[in-house]
Amino acid sequence: MGNILLKGILAGTKIKDILIKGNTIEQIKDNILLSPEQEKDCKILDCSGKAAIPGFVNMHTHSAMTLTRGYKEDTALQEWLQHIWAVEAKMDEEAIYWGTRLACLEMIKTGTTCFYDQYWMPQTAMEAVKEMGMRSVHAFVALNLKDESKNRGIMEGMEQMYSQSRSWGEMHKMSVGVHAPYTVSDNLIKWCTDFAREKKLTVHIHMSETEQENLDSIKLNGCTPFEHLEKLDALGPETIAAHCVWLSENDMDIMAKYGVTAVHNVNSNLKLSSGSRFKYNELKERGVRVCLGTDGCGSSNNLDMREAMKTAALLQKGWRRDPLALPLNELLNIATANGADALGLDAGRIEEGKLADIAIIDIDNYAFVPNLDFLSNLVYSANSSCIESLICNGELIMEQRRVKGEREIIENARKVCNKLYK
Ligand SMILES: [Zn+2]
Repeated sequence: MGNILLKGILAGTKIKDILIKGNTIEQIKDNILLSPEQEKDCKILDCSGKAAIPGFVNMHTHSAMTLTRGYKEDTALQEWLQHIWAVEAKMDEEAIYWGTRLACLEMIKTGTTCFYDQYWMPQTAMEAVKEMGMRSVHAFVALNLKDESKNRGIMEGMEQMYSQSRSWGEMHKMSVGVHAPYTVSDNLIKWCTDFAREKKLTVHIHMSETEQENLDSIKLNGCTPFEHLEKLDALGPETIAAHCVWLSENDMDIMAKYGVTAVHNVNSNLKLSSGSRFKYNELKERGVRVCLGTDGCGSSNNLDMREAMKTAALLQKGWRRDPLALPLNELLNIATANGADALGLDAGRIEEGKLADIAIIDIDNYAFVPNLDFLSNLVYSANSSCIESLICNGELIMEQRRVKGEREIIENARKVCNKLYK
């Protein structure tokens, strides 16, 4: 692993030099001078006309669902799910592998360095991500549709995945995935929670995504999904809850009390008509950590975090009728630092000592003229083709928009899809 020096790059509001040593941001200074000896071991990039932001952390996706992109559009949710499940039933290891690599290709091209995945065959998915040089966290999905006879197999699978994940290395982590309270029995939720706490793993769960799911929970359990999980002692700082669209005041108090992280999946929620009033301000006021995710390509169609930032901000400003809602600095944090914090990664910020996960933005183009407010231009004016290079763990995984293996990935993903949809 060589060193990288970013010369004269806009970082925050100032032009700086950034020296990356190994996988860490070693130094940020006005002018870093290297000795001839140091220069030999360093890739020096002239970054005039460029800006640096932390790589995005996509906190909720189902990566190999890239292969279901655009399938059965404009269909009601339950009918759409039947179609998607039929395709998913045909996905073998080869499909998961190329679907995940296709997802990584897209995420790299749009500036993401780390993602939280919840999908089938996590070992295969992890191998695909490793090939691409990104960070990832893979939730092993527990889903028994309340049929307790399935628990044993799921528990064994979880334990086996845990042993395998011991050899995954620093860049990839395992997580416990509980699909949702309406698809997983209380016994299995409790077992998953205990397992995660014992092994010090995060728990990834879909929560209060639709209004119907909350109404059903009230009918069945006499309380909301969050209240139900509290009764099961299944909430804690390890809980990372995707969606959280339908929250009561008490739900948000509970989330704050147990240190639960919320993941906003704005494009998916809008496209599936799940709900549009994500309660960002109310969660923030209570000190609940909010992160951003794209969800899978089945419902969000792309994995573009910059686009998700834009929709998230427009949505908050729109439904609240408040132009001050979700300001730019908070928007960048929910897409970067907050996700890194939730996953226990020392990344998500461009500061000395942090992991070197950096997106380099080309600001020498129309969308950044005038450059009165860089973040505003990035989110509201540009598109993600302005993301020119990407550094993950101190390695350049995209340089000048080129990603290793791009043609091969596209061709193989197409071949796999020909089999899935024949
Ligand atoms: Zn999801």
